[in-house]
Amino acid sequence: MSTELANGTVIRAGAFGNATALSCRECGTKVDLGPYYACPECFGPLEIAYYFPRITRAEIESGPRNIWRYKSLLPVPSDIEDSPNMEPGFTRLLQANNLGNALGIDKLWVKDDSTNPTNSFKDRVVACALSAAREFHSKVFACPSTGNLANAVAAAGARAGLKTVVFIPSNLEKPKQVNSAVYTDSLVAVEGNYDDVNKLASEIAGEEDGWAFVNVNVRPYYAEGSKTLGYEIAEQLGWRLPDQIVIPVASGSQLTKVDKAFQELIALGLVEDKPYKVYGAQATGCSPVSVAFKEGHEIVRPVKPDTIAKSLAIGNPADAVYVLDICRRTGGAVEDVTDDEIREGILLLARNEGIFTETAGGTTVACLKKLVETGQLDPTKETVVINTGMGLKTLDAIADQVGAAATIPATYDAFSAAGLS
Ligand SMILES: *Cc1c(COP(=O)(O)O)cnc(C)c1O
Ligand SMILES: [Zn+2]
Repeated sequence: MSTELANGTVIRAGAFGNATALSCRECGTKVDLGPYYACPECFGPLEIAYYFPRITRAEIESGPRNIWRYKSLLPVPSDIEDSPNMEPGFTRLLQANNLGNALGIDKLWVKDDSTNPTNSFKDRVVACALSAAREFHSKVFACPSTGNLANAVAAAGARAGLKTVVFIPSNLEKPKQVNSAVYTDSLVAVEGNYDDVNKLASEIAGEEDGWAFVNVNVRPYYAEGSKTLGYEIAEQLGWRLPDQIVIPVASGSQLTKVDKAFQELIALGLVEDKPYKVYGAQATGCSPVSVAFKEGHEIVRPVKPDTIAKSLAIGNPADAVYVLDICRRTGGAVEDVTDDEIREGILLLARNEGIFTETAGGTTVACLKKLVETGQLDPTKETVVINTGMGLKTLDAIADQVGAAATIPATYDAFSAAGLS
């Protein structure tokens, strides 16, 4: 049975898989599945509600080596693999013994999402948003972005044959601008910070018909994509949950959805129920959630971002209160680190594990270090840290700190004199 939206768009039966409705996170009001994101009763955020059938590990394991192996847990149709998309996910979960030794942690894994098609975890959320945009017959695939999202939207839109328009703060790192502009001729640099860009996008979404802003009016569908990080970590650990997980926080969507994924896996009996602690990582120059956590506040005061971790530079995070709630409820914490510590975090991961992360990953690794040092994270427990992005996109952050150890003439004598052997 198909359904019709208010604007006459017909949604085919099964367009959203096992999803049954949109449900308000604040008051529980249910809304039909459509391009809606705010509760008509209280303006709270809408999220996807499901009715899951019995789902087995074997069914999932026989699926493709990308996020669609979890399609029965996502708001996507069962034939999702047939539509051109970036096929993100199933990235490596690496045991990180060297980094563990350096930080004094017994058992540490890095979930390395820098190897996704456009080199950040955003390919996961965009793949789910793309599916929704298709089902809504959207004309334009768009986003406000701190950089990585624009890269993922531009690439996925190109592959899907959709018109894409991506909006970024005009002071964004050059590599992130180029990484969008190669895929689309509609990169819009907005004078202002991300929060200004986001406000403009909400305005356009309200005025123009047929625009799917992945993280605005199709945000409920987009956000579900982050659950696949949680599913993969559990599956790759041998169908069990870690004791502790450290996740970077910009809007907070990823952190809340990894927790939702763990809860679903427990509810479906796919992993054993056990306590786990969720930790959020922020840059001190944009740490509204960390500040609220430390001060014991229930509400989060917006800030003006000033940090090299631009992909995390959201001064007014949409999911901040849910991050606070999850980190408090699970016994975790939210921590923040300075720009110098972020650079040190990038080098720690690179020199110990051969993984070049961007400033967001530097933030997460540096927060992991600080959490151990301050006794907030138990170094004897199994710990996962998520690397969400790729260092080549933020070269400038680290370029002054690394380089040639020596510049020498091409002679053995010169090499010998340089003292490198
Ligand atoms: C967007 C982004 C994040 C944070 O995502 P939220 O879901 O908004 O909290 C983390 N790391 C990188 C590299 C990102 O691009
Ligand atoms: Zn509501």
